[in-house]
Amino acid sequence: MARKRLTISLFLVTLATAAGFAAAPARTPAQQRLSHDVYYLASDALEGRYSGSPGARVAAEFIAGRFRDLGLKPQGEDGFMQHFSFIAGVKPGEGNRLRLTAGGAARDAKLVDDFQPLAFSSSGSAAGEVVFVGYGIRAKDLNYDDYAGADVKGKVVLVLRFSPDGDDPASTFQPYMALRRKATEARDAGAAALLVATGPLGAAEATPVKISFDATFADSGLPVLGISTTLAESLFAGHGFTLAELQQRIKERREPASRPLGVQAELTADVVQQRADAANVLALLPGSDPQRAREVVIVGAHYDHLGYGGEGSGSLAVGVHAIHNGADDNASGVAAMLEIARRLAAAPPARTVLLAAFAGEEEGLLGSAELVRRLPVAKEDVVAMVNLDMVGRPKPGPALTLGGFGTAAEWPALVEKLNAAHHLKLATNKGGFGASDHSSFYAAEEPVLFLFTGAHEDYHKPSDDADTLDYPGMEKVVAFGADLARTIAEAPQRPTFQKVADEGQGERRGFRVRTGVIPEYGYEGPGVKISGVRGGSPAEKAGFVAGDIVMRFGDRETRNIYDYMYALGDHKPGEEVVVTVKRGSETVQLKVTLEAGGGGGR
Ligand SMILES: [Zn+2]
Repeated sequence: MARKRLTISLFLVTLATAAGFAAAPARTPAQQRLSHDVYYLASDALEGRYSGSPGARVAAEFIAGRFRDLGLKPQGEDGFMQHFSFIAGVKPGEGNRLRLTAGGAARDAKLVDDFQPLAFSSSGSAAGEVVFVGYGIRAKDLNYDDYAGADVKGKVVLVLRFSPDGDDPASTFQPYMALRRKATEARDAGAAALLVATGPLGAAEATPVKISFDATFADSGLPVLGISTTLAESLFAGHGFTLAELQQRIKERREPASRPLGVQAELTADVVQQRADAANVLALLPGSDPQRAREVVIVGAHYDHLGYGGEGSGSLAVGVHAIHNGADDNASGVAAMLEIARRLAAAPPARTVLLAAFAGEEEGLLGSAELVRRLPVAKEDVVAMVNLDMVGRPKPGPALTLGGFGTAAEWPALVEKLNAAHHLKLATNKGGFGASDHSSFYAAEEPVLFLFTGAHEDYHKPSDDADTLDYPGMEKVVAFGADLARTIAEAPQRPTFQKVADEGQGERRGFRVRTGVIPEYGYEGPGVKISGVRGGSPAEKAGFVAGDIVMRFGDRETRNIYDYMYALGDHKPGEEVVVTVKRGSETVQLKVTLEAGGGGGR
């Protein structure tokens, strides 16, 4: 890894000192511009452009500078910048404490050495008797329930990490091992707080479970502390059995060994959310036809990436702390968007074009969701959104995949006509939902098209570097993209939005059932906010609409997306489930008939 970094920085030095790209012969001016932008955005100096980081700010300034040079109109509230804040992480606050009283003797556990709050802990205090609840697993399908017969109402529950099978990923307990799930089960069982420890058998680390990162920081609804194995063991003193013995017994008999421990716990969990500021970079190219200039085509690409990777970042390089340069993902899309802007600006089309470089995509499409919420133009004037994400590595097979192909009635004819001049091998996907920013616009019922040249082995790894991109291939994609944007912006009629009949995808691979709701990831309140509903899905038939906030699913409270996923896991296809949603100021109950999940991934 380090060697690769060195090669690139040397190359950059060469670029900076030699005039232009003399060392790369036969590159067209467009290829030179594309590679210049990609090499810059994906350079180590920008440190992986993690949203809210200095590197991302430098990238945003760079994009704003390019917009300015093209003579485009700023569309943020601060020049080209549309700022927003998001929860970037959590850290322990000042108030964390844990006091344990046994046989009249109290002692205070030490923060860090003995205990730590977990990232998804609620902040708050609790007191009660400590009840050991084995692994904290309720698995109806496996006939295993650590809570069966245990009285945990108002108590402080102690559970072990993993399962009776240890941390074996092939274990049938796998779906039940997540700490998040254990917190949901403890809360739903009425526990006042949760303590989590690594059991002494086969424990790799005896230190408390780390606060650690989490895909979302939505709190789990009760205080959760990770405690050290040693501290956990000490709670069993005087019982005539050790924690190790109980753990061994659960493993051998595969039956719970839950019991009260006669120890009182008083605790406070204090978790401080760390907010970070990010910005979309927005520019307008005013339309040339006074009749149609009010209407707007959005061309967008996200510029953020994974920073240094690490747990919870989305990196696929497990355990590696290294700059994730994100050349294809998505310096390529930004460079392509800038080149498209240049071509359109040279002869502005009839309709206005809004150019958008998004932040927070890797954190869950945050920037595009923000733009949809705070459009600088009237929503009804938006005619379509074209998204570029990973367009730097066209394949010999289909060079380009077009997503969202089914989201406007006009797309097939328009694309066919257009490609007669470009001769690209195209693959198409009808669906408008996907793991990139066009999804936010499709959820808002706008026609979308998503340009993508395909996944590869460097995806979300530090090796996604500028020297792996195919610049001549990229120029062809850009030429197609520029003509596409121009054609939409010039067409006599605006495209007609249509919902794709059935996108046929489960919430995630491996789900037994599906509802077809698309959660809004940037939402920070309680419940699961829905940004859209798949066409033809059980949720659509049940009457769910975008903006609904799911508060209960069957017998489970759904405080966050994890609760929602666990609730789904309780059910089988064909079952009818009553779902409580908040719709504006009203509370509505909907009956959804679940269908089989599975099928394609995300
Ligand atoms: Zn990505």
